[in-house]
Amino acid sequence: MNDLAVSDMKKVCINEENCKDCGLCIRICREGALTRMNYTNVVGFRPVGWSGDCSLCAKCVVVCLDFAISIK
Ligand code: SF4
Ligand code: SF4
Repeated sequence: MNDLAVSDMKKVCINEENCKDCGLCIRICREGALTRMNYTNVVGFRPVGWSGDCSLCAKCVVVCLDFAISIK
């Protein structure tokens, strides 16, 4: 398996229950890959969802103060 194949397998993972709907990740993502979902999590916030396709720059991971985003 080459490096490109490994990279292709990674994805942005959202821990919906940690999301507080602050919107920071949506604003920092220049690819428009993050949007609010149309449902709420257990504490009443609309969690962020990932489109499934982006450059995996990880800016959203860094900006989220609630550790709700990871790349795996
Ligand atoms: S930065 Fe974190 S808490 Fe804020 S909207 Fe994005 S995922 Fe949710
Ligand atoms: S990894 Fe980068 S491009 Fe992908 S959703 Fe996060 S900020 Fe946007």
